[in-house]
Amino acid sequence: MSLHESFTRHIYWPLVQKLKSEYAARALKELSESQWKSRDEILSEQWQMVRRVVNKAAQDVPYYRQTYKRIGWDFNNKEFSYEDFLGIPKIEKESLRDHIQEFLNPNYKGRVTEGSTSGSTGQSLTVFFNIEHESYSEAGRWRAKDWWGVRPGSPHVAIWGRPYTGYKDRIAQQIKSYFMNYLLFSAFDIRQHSLKRIWNKIYRFKPHIIYGYPSAIFALAEYTQNNKLPAHELGIKVIMITAESSSIDQRHVIEEEFGCKTANEYGCSETGGFVYECPESNWHISSELTFIEFLDPKGKPVSPGERGEIFLTHLRNDYMPLIRYRVGDIGSQLAGTCDCGRNLPLMEVSVAKESDIIHLANRESYMSGDLLYINKSVMQAYPSSILQFRVTQKTMDSFEIEVVPGTGQVGEAKQLFEQLLKKQLGKNIQIHFKRVSSIEREPSGKLRYFISEINK
Ligand SMILES: [Zn+2]
Repeated sequence: MSLHESFTRHIYWPLVQKLKSEYAARALKELSESQWKSRDEILSEQWQMVRRVVNKAAQDVPYYRQTYKRIGWDFNNKEFSYEDFLGIPKIEKESLRDHIQEFLNPNYKGRVTEGSTSGSTGQSLTVFFNIEHESYSEAGRWRAKDWWGVRPGSPHVAIWGRPYTGYKDRIAQQIKSYFMNYLLFSAFDIRQHSLKRIWNKIYRFKPHIIYGYPSAIFALAEYTQNNKLPAHELGIKVIMITAESSSIDQRHVIEEEFGCKTANEYGCSETGGFVYECPESNWHISSELTFIEFLDPKGKPVSPGERGEIFLTHLRNDYMPLIRYRVGDIGSQLAGTCDCGRNLPLMEVSVAKESDIIHLANRESYMSGDLLYINKSVMQAYPSSILQFRVTQKTMDSFEIEVVPGTGQVGEAKQLFEQLLKKQLGKNIQIHFKRVSSIEREPSGKLRYFISEINK
């Protein structure tokens, strides 16, 4: 362990935690032990926490007090069953946005931090976290990194979505990240002309982990691949990808190039990450932080292995409790255990978002991920023709495709793109191409290749 690593782990990190009155180190110790408990014990402790969160919210938080009164909830039944719990109304993002004050616990005393959601559906939302949330959320992430031998103080490269808001902000971030042994880049900085400078910095830094958006890490992997740079020599233990859905191809290129595995972090901005992929490629739910339900359109729980809509109850935020909150993703709970030996329950996420689905007038629907395969076929036929693309669904049967042209046969490539898209979605769709010089990232830093203007 280097001196810097040791300083960060044993002096700087604990000091910062203390100054913020947080206790991620203690929470990490607790989570590192609880992951090995039996599945039954994990689930029973989780259920006790669900009861505690619901009882407390029913007592203290105006929104829940009123809603539960309206449905005739038995406030004295502290030991309610899951059947009872299924009667609790679910929460939509809009309710949270329009009534945020009513979701806050007026009796909560303690420091609160403010966060905002990325607004991938167009509207961002302000959310609030208490100290317990901050401590456990950070601890949950460290626990997952520890599965790969990465610990507080290990050299990190983080490719962050946040654009810097100014020179001062940039300096402050760089100083903080230096002490944390982080090398920080903004996803907005990952551009062709800056990749050489970024690579040189990373090469000197020798990180144990790269954490960030897959599209940005993929751009870096392509750069090292094209320039035959020794990315393997970095000795990276894991690349943790977050926030965007990535294609299997992208992950494959990243893994080949850096000579390590990629691991997904899944979560939402309202709660942070709560599912992490282990070295056995299974996604483990952080049950000590979150209770997840998979429900059919009627609100009934689906069986393990079946797809359902994901709803979460956050277990670590008494200031702004979220109970049965619609995440907007589809996934399924998986039965069985994992070879890694950790008994945290398993799940998978099938589709990133409802907004990633292409709905057509003939009532058929397709996954926007198909577009990546179309683009791949086009790139194989006409290399360097389309550098980047983004499809926007304007109406049920019309699409605009923005294209950043390269030096190859752009006209032929567009023709093939149109032909393949029509083969997939039907001959009657209208396609309009638009030439652009670049495709900008979302305000959050995410890069999207499909936007639906009808999935509102
Ligand atoms: Zn596992």
